[in-house]
Amino acid sequence: MEPLGDLAPDQVPERFAKLRARFDREAGVAHDENSWKSLRDFWAGRKSGVLTQVADAWLKPAKPDLKRAIGQALNELKAHVEAALESRRLAIEAAADQGALEREREDLSLPGVIRALGTRHPLRQTFEEIERIFLSLGYSVVAGPEMETPYYNFEALNIPEHHPARDNMDTFYMSTPPGAAALLLRTHTSPMQVRTMEKKQPPVRIIVPGKVYRRDNPDATHGFIFHQIEGLAVDTDITFCDFAGTVEYFVREFLGPKVKTRLRPSYFPFTEPSVEVDATCVFCGGKGCNVCKQSGWIELFGAGMVDPAVYGFVNYDAQRLSGFAFGLGVERLTQLKYNVNDLQLYYQNDMRFLRQFA
Ligand SMILES: [Zn+2]
Repeated sequence: MEPLGDLAPDQVPERFAKLRARFDREAGVAHDENSWKSLRDFWAGRKSGVLTQVADAWLKPAKPDLKRAIGQALNELKAHVEAALESRRLAIEAAADQGALEREREDLSLPGVIRALGTRHPLRQTFEEIERIFLSLGYSVVAGPEMETPYYNFEALNIPEHHPARDNMDTFYMSTPPGAAALLLRTHTSPMQVRTMEKKQPPVRIIVPGKVYRRDNPDATHGFIFHQIEGLAVDTDITFCDFAGTVEYFVREFLGPKVKTRLRPSYFPFTEPSVEVDATCVFCGGKGCNVCKQSGWIELFGAGMVDPAVYGFVNYDAQRLSGFAFGLGVERLTQLKYNVNDLQLYYQNDMRFLRQFA
């Protein structure tokens, strides 16, 4: 601040008026918080603001006859600066609030968020359909562990170690501590046959829906995880006719009343006799097409009368009791019902595929 020099008292107001005009100019362009802060520091800053400088350079060294006029003018300028700074601060805050309000204002005419409604997966629908059919026949639904012991997955189902049937079921074994019992991921839902018969005396009529695991490389007809529904009926007077009738009833309920069934001899370690259940091709009605390789028949699932050897593992009286078992492939049956030609489609979560089952 330049020294005030020799002035008459009546010239003081003019000098202060110039300062005030300069302040008003600068205040007039402070429209946001940052420029307001610069303005405040420049004019009212405690150490080196203009007001402090005026006090130091004009008021302190002034001669007694000027001191009163300068002190009064400085007080007036100070009051003006402080009041103007405060009103600018309020104006800037109000403008910021208004801007925020406008940015955040909700436009009620905009369309709402449309949330996609889920539907049941095709495999789940097949599970429920099969469960419905067997519940209506008096079966109950039981669930079992996916991690099993070799005893329940193989031995108690008449599949001893080194039995060739084990080669057909490439198995995931868990790594267990030395000396601990071996564990595996069940390769079929059949272990629940044994677990159920251990706990319950006949009559037994159950189905066992669930996930099973095999060491297969994924392709159109294989996966390392798939779904089965095991069925088991054991009682005192169950004959092969009961078995064939139940199978035929199920196939008609599931695939439609026009579908015919046939039983072909097969082999499973835990059923004797064992059969493959075929149905007339759902795609050509039995006339012959690419899917059924022109034969008119398609393979549905394996089944058979329970091998008496299995009863030995659960202390059932094989002389008095008989029964049948079947293992339905849920992917296979879904594929036949909806003509799905690639197993992997079930697991890829592609909405274009899944929407078709809504
Ligand atoms: Zn066909």
